[in-house]
Amino acid sequence: MVSSSKKKVCVVGAGVSGLASARELLREGHAVTVMEQSGGVGGQWLYDSMTDAGDPLGTAGVHSSIYASLRLIIPREVTGFSGFPFYPKGDGGSGDARRYPCHGEFLRYIRDFCDAFGIMDVVRFNTRVVHVGVAPPDDGGAAAGDKRLRWVVRWMKPGEVITEEEVFDAVVVAVGQYTQPRLPSINGMDKWKGRQLHSHSYRVPDSFRGEVVVVVGCHESGKEIALELCDVAREVHISVKSMGDDVTPGVSKAVSRHHNLHLHLQIECLCEDGRVVFADGSCVVADAVIYCTGYNYWYPFLDTGGLVTVDDNRVGPLYEHTFPPALAPSLSFVGLPRMVVVPRFYEVQARWVAQVLSGRSALPSEEEMMRSVDEYQRAREMAGVPKRHTHVLDDLEYCDDLGEKYCGFPRLDGWKKELLCSSLTRLRDNRESFRDDYHHDSDLVREGLRSEGWLVDADTPRVEMDGELAMKTTSMAQPQP
Ligand SMILES: Cc1cc2nc3c(=O)[nH]c(=O)nc-3n(C[C@H](O)[C@H](O)[C@H](O)COP(=O)(O)OP(=O)(O)OC[C@H]3O[C@@H](n4cnc5c(N)ncnc54)[C@H](O)[C@@H]3O)c2cc1C
Repeated sequence: MVSSSKKKVCVVGAGVSGLASARELLREGHAVTVMEQSGGVGGQWLYDSMTDAGDPLGTAGVHSSIYASLRLIIPREVTGFSGFPFYPKGDGGSGDARRYPCHGEFLRYIRDFCDAFGIMDVVRFNTRVVHVGVAPPDDGGAAAGDKRLRWVVRWMKPGEVITEEEVFDAVVVAVGQYTQPRLPSINGMDKWKGRQLHSHSYRVPDSFRGEVVVVVGCHESGKEIALELCDVAREVHISVKSMGDDVTPGVSKAVSRHHNLHLHLQIECLCEDGRVVFADGSCVVADAVIYCTGYNYWYPFLDTGGLVTVDDNRVGPLYEHTFPPALAPSLSFVGLPRMVVVPRFYEVQARWVAQVLSGRSALPSEEEMMRSVDEYQRAREMAGVPKRHTHVLDDLEYCDDLGEKYCGFPRLDGWKKELLCSSLTRLRDNRESFRDDYHHDSDLVREGLRSEGWLVDADTPRVEMDGELAMKTTSMAQPQP
């Protein structure tokens, strides 16, 4: 075992949250092992074209849910890991210098991040964790009288049936949250003869050419997939929960621009003759239904003896969405919160976990943490927030407060906040053009871009080629063909 303030820590998952955890734990001097079931880092950003495993409403044996055309929804200037800006790279023309680049560009950046911080050296690839549970008291070299929890981690290699195991002082669960489809329960769903799939299994629009497609759900994936389908499908019908909140000005504009895009209320039932009947009384005969209805948290390997459960998509109890009071600090979760700035929020969680494990930061007592969790949940319930949205935060200040209070993580720069807010406004109002229409940055944002090296001079965006800073014209900021 490493010295008492330095722990042997297993991080499960090498996506953005697991990698952020690895960097913070290494910085704090812990002995880190990242276990990753796939052959590479990046998690969701490791695009996987394979989904036809005969399970289009399930996971299809695939982790990533991203589709071929996906571009970042948040500007790259706000998206990078702290202290390692997501600068564009020339890469002989293969890079994507846009402010909202394609998924491959982000994966390239994630790999660069791992190289820069020596993270690849601590990742065990093709290692699927199948069990995490409390180690028996005498296991793992605990000193006599040492009551701290330790954890047995068991894993499997592809194609093998035997498991191997190792004992750790702490486990950080960072397995992501966008893999296990969440499906609605709709009358007739089991008998409907058309094609049904969850957005987890959507990659490209080609197979919907000339079809009538119903897209269920109008959050980001639903909107984006529906708009992409408009170019190939005969008709696209989006089914929304309410014509109020779900239908942003950007959606209304898109509906008026595309003659084959229509909005309806929720689906009432799916009929055996192919009809899809909506709650507003309208109906269409459709070829396919795509459920863009979100994801469930899922930890099939985790055995906490019932101390941490997933109930209606609430993982808990978790203090500040991170530590289960009864098992803290040796068990923690990084990457649970939704509608947060990524990787920033997950870095704050990771730094806090690393500092608590080394003893530089202290947690309140188990009772105080439980009280805080109860208060949080009560307040959310009184505000009318459904249980399944427990980890939907949508609050920039909360992340700043958390970082400042627990681990000295700097608050988000004012210019980044402004850039983020203005991009979210454009996302709401101009769904189809927000990524390419960003030529009106305020003075504050421009000054921030200059101070952090995003602009080489007043108008020239930075781009790196072979590690060198190269001068490019402003056209680098234009959309690529
Ligand atoms: C369609 C879509 C679009 C998105 N667009 C954006 C965007 O534009 N901007 C943005 O910031 N975010 C976006 N996100 C969210 C994105 O997922 C997060 O930003 C971030 O990548 C989550 O990282 P993570 O590490 O928490 O999870 P993941 O990226 O899911 O990584 C989890 C890792 O854990 C591994 N793993 C899981 N189970 C095990 C196991 N048992 N054993 C070993 N390894 C395991 C997985 O293989 C994976 O590598 C999008 C998500 C989706 C689905």
